[in-house]
Amino acid sequence: MIYPWQTDDWQRLQQLRSHWPHALLLHGQAGIGKLQFAQHLAKGLLCEAPQANGEPCGACAACNWFVQGNHPDYRIVVPEALAAEIGQAGDDEAKAEKADKAEGEEGKKGRAPSKEIRIEQVRALLDFTSVGSHRGGLRVVVLYPAEALNVAAANALLKTLEEPPSGVVFLVVSARIDRLLPTIISRCRQWPMATPAPEAAAAWLAQQGVDDAPALLAQAGGAPLAALALAHDENRTLRDWTLTQLAAGPACDAFACGETLQKLPVPLVLGWLQRWVYDLLAERTAGRPRYFPQAAGGLARCAAKLDAAALARYLKTVTQQRAVENHPLNARLVFEELFLGYRELFA
Ligand SMILES: [Zn+2]
Repeated sequence: MIYPWQTDDWQRLQQLRSHWPHALLLHGQAGIGKLQFAQHLAKGLLCEAPQANGEPCGACAACNWFVQGNHPDYRIVVPEALAAEIGQAGDDEAKAEKADKAEGEEGKKGRAPSKEIRIEQVRALLDFTSVGSHRGGLRVVVLYPAEALNVAAANALLKTLEEPPSGVVFLVVSARIDRLLPTIISRCRQWPMATPAPEAAAAWLAQQGVDDAPALLAQAGGAPLAALALAHDENRTLRDWTLTQLAAGPACDAFACGETLQKLPVPLVLGWLQRWVYDLLAERTAGRPRYFPQAAGGLARCAAKLDAAALARYLKTVTQQRAVENHPLNARLVFEELFLGYRELFA
């Protein structure tokens, strides 16, 4: 299944079908469904009775294997930390991770799952591409997200992209093309994927049962899947509470923030704070918030009382904190300090 805003990309891509590029780089904003698109594209390329528009038939042996995650000519490569989330990854690592989870506490004792695509994963991929097709058709590799390739892995992949094995198609997916090696980019056919128009995205969200689609879409920078995740976010009540605290400006209760938010992941709260400060700056410069338009009143009241230079300095502090957010920190102290700093902006 592809999303409704992707049909144009789908149709235009089918025109490449007769001379399919050996590596396609699908890139665009996070949260617009690039991975699902790539997976559907892979299914269509592997299908043994595709429809005229390139859609997989959904009934042949290849389609069935694909759905079960065990098509012999398909590989998806993702960082370990994502494998369980993506499910049906069809590679041994994902299965190993599931087994780990099944073992419960025992399985958790090892190292934390890697957020990078490691060289061992790329090497395993090279073994896959060096043997022939099992079904006599294409072999397809989805690589997601490409910015997670570490340097060694990227260089190993580069060798393959430079001398592509025949009949192998790479679908490389990235939300951060600026973080890819230029040599990788230049070996791929680039395919930018657009963020859907706000009306189309809001209509789709409404179909998913989301009631305040425009506000959530704004918070998610226009990306519908990110907005949907926000709608189902178990921390939504705390996020709204935090925004109320921030909108209170000089009356923000920093100690209550520390107390109330201490159980939440530090990166999550820092993300809210950072977007709030971006919106304050946007309010001052353009008079229009980007992420929290539903809080426009509070943002305008706060922005009017703030010194732009002090706000910029404060944003720097939050950004610096984000750089170390994955280290073990005392969340309560971090939050208290940051919210105290925020309140002081109004002094
Ligand atoms: Zn099929």
